[in-house]
Amino acid sequence: MDNIEKIVLNKIDEMRDEIIKFHQEMVRIPSENPPRKYKEIVKFTENKFKELSLKTQVKRNNVIGELGDGNGRTLILYGHLDTVEAFKGWSKDPFGAEILNGKIYGRGASDDKSSVTAEFFATKALIEAGVKLNGKLILTAVIDEETGGIRGADYILENNIIKGDACLLGDAPCDYPFGYTGGAMYITFTTFGKIAHGLGFPDLPIPYRNEHSGVNSIEKMMRIMNFLLRLKEEFLRTETNYSLPEGWNAAVSSVNMAEIHGGNKITTVPDKCFLHLSINTIPEQDIESIKIRIMNFIEELNNLDPDFKITVQIPIAFEPQVIDENSDFAKAVKKATNLVFGEERGFKLFLPSTDAHWFQKRGIPTILIGSSREDNNVHAKDEFVYIDDLINTTKLFALTALNYLK
Ligand SMILES: [Zn+2]
Repeated sequence: MDNIEKIVLNKIDEMRDEIIKFHQEMVRIPSENPPRKYKEIVKFTENKFKELSLKTQVKRNNVIGELGDGNGRTLILYGHLDTVEAFKGWSKDPFGAEILNGKIYGRGASDDKSSVTAEFFATKALIEAGVKLNGKLILTAVIDEETGGIRGADYILENNIIKGDACLLGDAPCDYPFGYTGGAMYITFTTFGKIAHGLGFPDLPIPYRNEHSGVNSIEKMMRIMNFLLRLKEEFLRTETNYSLPEGWNAAVSSVNMAEIHGGNKITTVPDKCFLHLSINTIPEQDIESIKIRIMNFIEELNNLDPDFKITVQIPIAFEPQVIDENSDFAKAVKKATNLVFGEERGFKLFLPSTDAHWFQKRGIPTILIGSSREDNNVHAKDEFVYIDDLINTTKLFALTALNYLK
């Protein structure tokens, strides 16, 4: 470890109480999505960024702070301000930020206000240590991650509000850098039938049907569902070769049929059925070929059955990503990780979807590392973050920026 790295890490240790206090303040400001009440959390974050003399702007509730002149590389740090709803059944106040046994409790304490707190103090430590960055550091505290990111990360990238050469994304598990991410696709199928009396004119094959017979949209959907189950069985036969952290056990791709609606009454042939599902893949697969297989199967059904009517919507589809481990960015993250944990820790695979794909889609290499542990009750009651994990994330952000923007 060189001297400046030591100084920055010491600074962060000295700031421990200040970091805790700041994080409690953030957790005490509700920012549930829905209902997307962001005013207070946005103002708080904006003011804090300004306190660090960052070039600060707010674009549709996304808060962005910049440090440095931009001559050289640009590193983006990422965190999101919105949280899922508090929901009921907590044993603590979800907006109380109570501290107990080295943990801070509250909605968003882990997911993902921990990243925003870490970004802020990583930057503060660099400034106070007198580090002169060669390049630009961009802090982002975005919204709408929990509902897909279109008005958050996607919006600020699409409109060129931020640009960067690399992104370090905190909305992720702790302990390892995640350099490999899975692909994902969200699909909605809608099948259409013909409504009819279910007892008088049910959906029957020739020679039992006539012009009054119904067309059962649920039965049509079952063909799709059977196909999806076969696809899932096939996926289960291929385990990824990329290393996974312990406790996150999905080493295979999956098909999750998530929501289904259809029909009206027990005596009626249903004329409409919806199915919403997600598919996530390991890095060894690609989303495009899965999409083609699904569309080919539907075309086949269309050709075989003149009554088969369907629409397919795929609002989100993104491919898996594998970081170039020889890049300066990967090396900077690796070095930071080794210094913070005092041992060599290699890249791991993270399968769940985050905002990372919005950056990757624009060719910005993205590595994930954050404060989240399996027992943090993320999206559940009694969410908390371990203070030590919060401090480690702050250190990882600071050292990565220090080494990448040398
Ligand atoms: Zn979340």
